[in-house]
Amino acid sequence: GGSGSASTIKQVKLERESELRIEVGNDAPLRLRLLNGTAEIFGTELPPEIWLNFPPRLKFAVFTWYGATIEMDGATETDYTADETPMVSYVNVHAVLDGRRSRAKASSPDDSVSSQGPRVIVVGPTDSGKSTLSRMLLSWAAKQGWKPTFVDLDIGQGSITIPGCIAATPIEMPIDPVEGIPLEMPLVYFYGHATPSNNVELYKVLVKELAGMIERQFTGNAESRASGMVINTMGWIEGVGYDLLLHAIRTFKANVVLVLGQEKLCSMLKDVLKSEPKVDVVKLQRSGGVVSRNAKVRQKARSYRIREYFYGLSNDLSPHSNIANFSDLFVYRVGGGPQAPRSALPIGAEPAADPTRVVPVNINRDLLHLVLAVSFAKEPDEIISSNVAGFIYVTDIDIQRKKITYLAPSAGELPSKYLIMGSLTWLET
Ligand code: ADP
Repeated sequence: GGSGSASTIKQVKLERESELRIEVGNDAPLRLRLLNGTAEIFGTELPPEIWLNFPPRLKFAVFTWYGATIEMDGATETDYTADETPMVSYVNVHAVLDGRRSRAKASSPDDSVSSQGPRVIVVGPTDSGKSTLSRMLLSWAAKQGWKPTFVDLDIGQGSITIPGCIAATPIEMPIDPVEGIPLEMPLVYFYGHATPSNNVELYKVLVKELAGMIERQFTGNAESRASGMVINTMGWIEGVGYDLLLHAIRTFKANVVLVLGQEKLCSMLKDVLKSEPKVDVVKLQRSGGVVSRNAKVRQKARSYRIREYFYGLSNDLSPHSNIANFSDLFVYRVGGGPQAPRSALPIGAEPAADPTRVVPVNINRDLLHLVLAVSFAKEPDEIISSNVAGFIYVTDIDIQRKKITYLAPSAGELPSKYLIMGSLTWLET
């Protein structure tokens, strides 16, 4: 606005156990600070009096246990106060987990069962607040000095890295309300699609790889082991989605299943898991503050996420445009390889492509605007079992000169010449 515009500063007084729910406007960031009292954003305490900058479109709540006054500067899409929240039930879950972590820490590290802290998995439909609850549990644990491992299996709206991936990272400090999960060195596996139905088998294989890797890390690290994990999942809970949930619960040996706002899912899981030793299935109320996002909004969020990877949350990163020869890079995709011709099969048989076969791809215009993962694999047959170093974005393919131009987070040579493609595209805007 011009110099004559009215002040947009506003103060909000919050009573104990209430929250201020905010959707930042589409065009401008919002400044906010804690004037007095104590308050937290999704489990992370606000510093007193310091202005924080929230980027456009961010949706969040400032919650107070004992009362607080908040000051806001800027336009919001919505902001309102709510005194009915499920926070007490959430913090009670945290207290139980905390007790289990302490017991695990006190046990002999040689006892691989009792020295294992809680393995919590959060399940529920889309927009039930799964990521938010995961975040609170992690931040509350980190505040008490634990180093829980955050595992994000949500390939659509994950919070560790770009979409199309499953990933894990240790959380050593309460999660920053603006910056989110720190991006230093997460363990990332590239699936390459935003929905698991593209290749269910591959999704399962990658979940297994990730779980195996964390299991190995826990073996050598008593602190991480006692802190346990918090696993966020996809909102797909019907049919194959339900099978994948069960697969994740079993593969990660989860022993606490938190079900958000879904009676039916909760009773189904209770029923099938009752025969399994010591799995607690707990139903929790969904927060009325969780904002629903339609397919278009989700698609947009995916695109912002990719943009954020290359350019940073507030355009604070400068990615590099690099040029390579076709012959310097090897691109692969997984599954859906060339099939045997129908004529070569017995009558009635359907041609089946091995869903986890690694297939070399010729570099051509089809790669334009694709996001490719840079694999840590040393050989093509290690591609599925290897995590990825990062991502590149293909901005030009010159067939004549056999040159590929791509955007990478930094200049210089890629950590590996093996690239993985999926169906993940991005249009830089
Ligand atoms: P899910 O992981 O189940 O899809 P999320 O936890 O991502 O759901 O929540 C959906 C959106 O709602 C997110 O943008 C989140 O920040 C927002 N949100 C969650 N809880 C609240 C709340 N209490 N007040 C305001 N916004 C919230």
